[in-house]
Parts: sequence; structure tokens; C-alpha cells
Amino acid sequence: MGKTVTGRFAPTPSGRMHLGNVFAALVAWLSVRSQKGQMVLRMEDLDTQRTSEEYAQILREDLLWLGLDWDGETPPQSQRSAVYETYFEKLKALDLLYPCYCTRSQLHSVNAPHLSDGTYVYAGTCRNLTEDQRAAFDRKPSWRVKVPDRVWQFTDRVQGIYRENLITDCGDFVVRRADDVFVYQLAVTVDDGQSGVTEVVRGMDLLSSAPRQMYLQELFGFSHPDYGHVPMLVAPDGRRLSKRDKDLDLGQLRLHFTPEQVLGTLAFSAGLIPENCPISAKELVSQFVWEKLGKENICLDITQFVGV
Ligand code: GLU
Repeated sequence: MGKTVTGRFAPTPSGRMHLGNVFAALVAWLSVRSQKGQMVLRMEDLDTQRTSEEYAQILREDLLWLGLDWDGETPPQSQRSAVYETYFEKLKALDLLYPCYCTRSQLHSVNAPHLSDGTYVYAGTCRNLTEDQRAAFDRKPSWRVKVPDRVWQFTDRVQGIYRENLITDCGDFVVRRADDVFVYQLAVTVDDGQSGVTEVVRGMDLLSSAPRQMYLQELFGFSHPDYGHVPMLVAPDGRRLSKRDKDLDLGQLRLHFTPEQVLGTLAFSAGLIPENCPISAKELVSQFVWEKLGKENICLDITQFVGV
């Protein structure tokens, strides 16, 4: 018997979903349901300043309004520090962690900026500090994991072959912040691993996180899931749609459209259906195949959604 397919929704409850989030959730759900798999919901609320249970509840309602259901919800990340701590200790026991005292401005001035999103490759400034040098700082450190000189490669269901050497493309990365909060990369790896997630479907903006998560999966003894990083939605002028497009968040859309209208437009724009007509999530299941999704950004005719 094959392994049960398990996918997940992993929203950050910091506001209403916008169409980009809806699209990623739709594809994650279609993939799971078309394989008769299980869907897990998990609230990614590590950033307790920006997230709330009120938003989490609205997210659940929005997903259900769209017809995107799930089979179980795992505890939110804000309640799982003790679990993350045990994995953090594992990394420490492997002698893979070190404290980093770099300030935000040092990080940006010392390390060459990398990629268009402004992230940098960490130069390893604090990797070899002596105990005396560490003791001389009067602030709490963040904690970085040492990365190996090794190429991580996988075949993404949408983007094709993706490879990255963490040494040259990322550098040692932070797993715990100076205020003790565990970071996304560690939490997501532990959560997906413990939930038995076999496929991770999310926005293209997280593609470069996959190698870091694969590295941690290996250290923690979890299998690698399959990945599918879906294209971003853009307006006809090429601008990426985001949470700033208030008109396109579900709070607004729900006032003027049916779930079938929203899904029909998304599915049509993404090439999943041949015509722009209202359609339910359930009806899309039998028509879903990964091959219909292209790699390119999806241009959405937003005029039909805005200003109504
Ligand atoms: N919580 C992330 C978000 O809302 C998604 C993380 C993931 O899918 O790995 O963008």
C-alpha cells in the first residue's frame, strides 16, 4: 500500500486572505482531494504581534466559504515552543548551532545583498567567535545553524528542477531569534514532519525556503515531502497582488461575489479550466492535473473584482 497523501494549509492569521493566498490554498486542496488524501490545517502564528485567534477564526470561515475543507487542525505554532525546543536541542547536540550577535544593520552592510528580494548570504561573521569574544557582547544572540557545502536538488511540480547550495545561496541561517522565538524554517519543518505531510503546496515566493527545510528535515529524521510552488498572481500591469490590495481580500470579495465566481476566475486565469465560468471547488477536483499549471506569473484581470 502506498503512503497516505497528506497536504496542508499553513496560513498566517495576520489578516484576510487575498487572492494569491486563495489560489495557493485551492491548488493545495485540489492536489490532495484529487488523490483522496488528507488535508491538515495549521495556523502559523509565531509572530504573536501580528497574528490573532480572531483572524485565525476568520481564515477558517473563509476557507470553508470557498469550499476548501480539511480533515484535522494541529495546534498553532504559538503553542508549540516546547516541541521546537527539543529540535533546537538536537541541533545543539550535533554541534551545528552557534550564537550570532550581528545587528540588523551589520547584517545588511557586511553581507552582500542577494536576490531581488533583498535577502543576503550570511558571511559567517559569528561562526568562529571565541568564548571570550562571545562574552564581550552585552546583548542576547540569535542562533544560526551551520550549513554544509552541498547541493540540494528537487523537482518541483510546477517549477521543475530547483537546486541550491546553502553555502553560496544562503549561508548559515537563523533558527531562533534573540527574543527566543523560533523562526519559520524550524517550526515549519517540525510541524510538517510531525504531521506526516507528504506534499507542500504554496506560493512561489517560498521556493528558496525549500532547501533550508530539506536540510533540517534530514537532520531531524523526517522524509522530504514533494513540493509544488505555485505562480504568483499579478495585475495586468505586472504588479504582484498582495495584502495591500484591499479590494481583493476575501472580506471585500465575499460582499460581492459567490465562491464559485471567485474560484472560476482563478481557475480560468491559471489555465485549470477553459472558460471563465462559476465553478465550485468540488467540481474542479476531477479536472485537476498539475501539468495544466505553468511556471509563469498568472495575470489576473482584476477589473472584474475591484471597485464593485
Ligand atoms: N505561513 C506561510 C504564509 O502564510 C506559509 C508557509 C508555508 O506554506 O510553508 O505565507
